[in-house]
Amino acid sequence: MLATKILVPAPKIEERKITELLLCGPGPCNIWPSVTEALTKPIVSPICDEYYNAMEDIRLSLNYLFQTKSKLVLAISGSGHSGMETVITNCVAPTETMLIATRGIWDERALNIAQRYNINAIPYRIPLDSTFDFENIETQLKKWRPTALFITHGDSSTGTVQKLEGLGELCHKYGALLIVDTVVSIGGVPFLMDEWGVDAVYASTQKALSGPAGISPVAFSERAQEKINNRKHQPPFYFDVKLLAQQWNCYGNTRAYHHTLSAPMIWALRQCLKEINKRTLPVFWKTHHDVTKHFHKRLQQYGFKFLVPKVEDRLATVTTVVLPRGYDYTTFVRHMRENYNILIFGGLGPTAGKALRIGIMGVNATIEVADAVAEAMAGTLKALTKSSL
Ligand SMILES: *Cc1c(COP(=O)(O)O)cnc(C)c1O
Repeated sequence: MLATKILVPAPKIEERKITELLLCGPGPCNIWPSVTEALTKPIVSPICDEYYNAMEDIRLSLNYLFQTKSKLVLAISGSGHSGMETVITNCVAPTETMLIATRGIWDERALNIAQRYNINAIPYRIPLDSTFDFENIETQLKKWRPTALFITHGDSSTGTVQKLEGLGELCHKYGALLIVDTVVSIGGVPFLMDEWGVDAVYASTQKALSGPAGISPVAFSERAQEKINNRKHQPPFYFDVKLLAQQWNCYGNTRAYHHTLSAPMIWALRQCLKEINKRTLPVFWKTHHDVTKHFHKRLQQYGFKFLVPKVEDRLATVTTVVLPRGYDYTTFVRHMRENYNILIFGGLGPTAGKALRIGIMGVNATIEVADAVAEAMAGTLKALTKSSL
């Protein structure tokens, strides 16, 4: 039919082999075997009981994951960035001020997103290998009186973890909401939303939750909900949590179609959460802490140097390592992949060309994986020294 009208011929798509690697970068991480299985479950209509029941499982498990009793918890269709865009555009109106505590690439992304929505975004920058102390943040809050403070909990571009306990209270004292990126910390590092007074948070499946990228859990406090319910501005339609709350039945009895949620992503997220619920958060946090402690000890034995000077600032899920002078980061990463089948990453944003980033998290948070990666790194260091002589 209409064959003569075909101007563009069909390209031939070759069979391609995809090598399975041990994914030990800052994300994506390997996925749980049970998640691989969950991904093959049937596709169903976005308006049926099987779906609603799975969404309910997800919401209740997200209350547990974020440690919040909030009703407004759901997941955004998209990777971690979609969660970032959602919390910013729903909580902060155009021309309002958002203070961005900046120490890595994710804070720069938040700045970029905020500026696109005409938010008055103010970056407050500190050196990339450090974290914020509350006195300095208080000075900034006093100075700018922002609608919200944006801060990243675990930063995968620098390998630091930010202390958050008490920060919510400080923000509220100055009338600001506290927005937190937990993409690479959630599940791997303690996070207590209600206890710490966090107002809006987003995460992602592809890091310590060990699922595929493509869905981003979010949660909003009572304070944030009040702001959202009284707002005069319109956030992007696709990320409007007022509408999404209806689709997710957050307040009961509203099951409105907003967009077609991807069934495989729903099954996958549900299964990731099931894996964590089964282990419990305190156990999973301790696993990450213990495995990383062991990994760091092994790295030190091999003579590796850390980018982050203070031990208490080092993130349990992603480690940043500085190579001795004369080593090329790209060559190091390639050698690891080609000779050991292990994928680690070089730097990103402020650490580009300055550090290796190694993520040992989720399903990979085991002593065996930590040993394998440390040994491969030592072997690579040796091999590259030899070849450069
Ligand atoms: C990976 C990461 C993101 C981005 O997530 P995507 O799933 O790639 O969109 C955001 N914040 C942090 C801290 C991350 O580690």
